Amino acid sequence: MSILLMNLFINVIIKEKYYILERIIMKRIENIDLKNKKVLIRVDFNVPLDKELNIVDDNRIRESLQTINYCLDNNCKIILMSHLGKIKSEEDLEKNSLKPVAKRLGELLNKEIIFVPEVRGEKVNKAVNNMKEKDIVLLENTRFLDLNGKLESGCDEELSKYFASLADIFINDAFGTCHRAHASNVGVSKYIKESCLGFLVLKEIDNLMPVVNNPKHPFIVIMGGAKISDKIGVIENLIKKADYILVGGGMAYTFLKAKGEEIGKSLLDSESLDFAKEMLEKTNKIILPVDHITSLDMESNNYQIKEKLDSNDYGLDIGPKTIELFKSYLENSKTIFWNGPMGYYENEIYQKGTKEICEIISKLEATSVVGGGDSASCVINLGYKDKFTHVSTGGGASLELLEGKELPGINI
Ligand code: ADP
Ligand code: MG
Repeated sequence: MSILLMNLFINVIIKEKYYILERIIMKRIENIDLKNKKVLIRVDFNVPLDKELNIVDDNRIRESLQTINYCLDNNCKIILMSHLGKIKSEEDLEKNSLKPVAKRLGELLNKEIIFVPEVRGEKVNKAVNNMKEKDIVLLENTRFLDLNGKLESGCDEELSKYFASLADIFINDAFGTCHRAHASNVGVSKYIKESCLGFLVLKEIDNLMPVVNNPKHPFIVIMGGAKISDKIGVIENLIKKADYILVGGGMAYTFLKAKGEEIGKSLLDSESLDFAKEMLEKTNKIILPVDHITSLDMESNNYQIKEKLDSNDYGLDIGPKTIELFKSYLENSKTIFWNGPMGYYENEIYQKGTKEICEIISKLEATSVVGGGDSASCVINLGYKDKFTHVSTGGGASLELLEGKELPGINI
């Protein structure tokens, strides 16, 4: 009987794994003949720009190079499209043009990029018709077409068909938007002859899926950042799989409040208090800070280290004893997943907790994966990107994958 049960169990695991692998292998870029084809690549050029429209962090552009170079090696004609930010008004148009990205991409590839300042229409048609082998055309921000009727975000059928008419093969390499079904990732794939996933999306899946499906134990999750409510799905799914969840950042204060502790003026996500209480009652896996870097004013550089907060304190970072406590859990781990900074890192004074956690992880052998927009920029800006097994380019997308959801952009 037990052998029968065991067989059933193994079969289910193999089937589930096979299903996931089969679905992904069938769509892998390297299994498709790209020689001399015209390809349309949905890249993720949603990069942060400063007021002078300089690119603050070009990580996402760099991460797209593998797929673009592979297509160049295959003598493809390459059409690139991406969104950048949100477009809600006419003023957003100028701030969110992909023109600076075209320049940066040209520098990185040491090659001319033909930038077309529109998403569809005469100029696009002309540029695409005039393409030669190895030419790269970059279209303007696809969300420009959100201005009158949300054509991109609403996955408009006509727009999807138009994108599909531009090329022979569609490659989705924009992991950051895989949790959304838009015209430029999911819509287009319905009308084009052939679609596949690019190297970046595959790398993301290959690194993130094992964390959800079969992490090596001890598996430690580190959670931080601002609000619990954004992350309830991830916490619920990961608490089942992790051995411990170390909670820092603003999120920790809602848990401490749920325990009845004084949190002063620290970040409180009151709509998640009940959830926090329930989690603390249900499991012993949640490890909370035991000391804090506090200040009487969020923007002040005067700080104190305290084990208990007073009513006027803002808790802005984890303290040294908490760092030691978290270290003791991390040291024995085989898998680490981290989402959310440990403090108000935008002010350098309150960056220490986040930096120390980077430092601790950098010395470990464990598989270490970081997901989340702010968390990834912290790790990259603090210079630790290469010390992690994987730093995801996707914020929402990586979290939805870890919630166990199927992402529409992967299922193309
Ligand atoms: P991610 O984008 O990685 O998912 P979040 O967006 O949830 O992360 O959280 C990042 C934000 O949380 C940052 O703006 C950071 O300043 C803020 N934060 C973290 N800890 C604190 C804290 N103790 N007090 C105030 N803000 C905090
Ligand atoms: Mg964020």
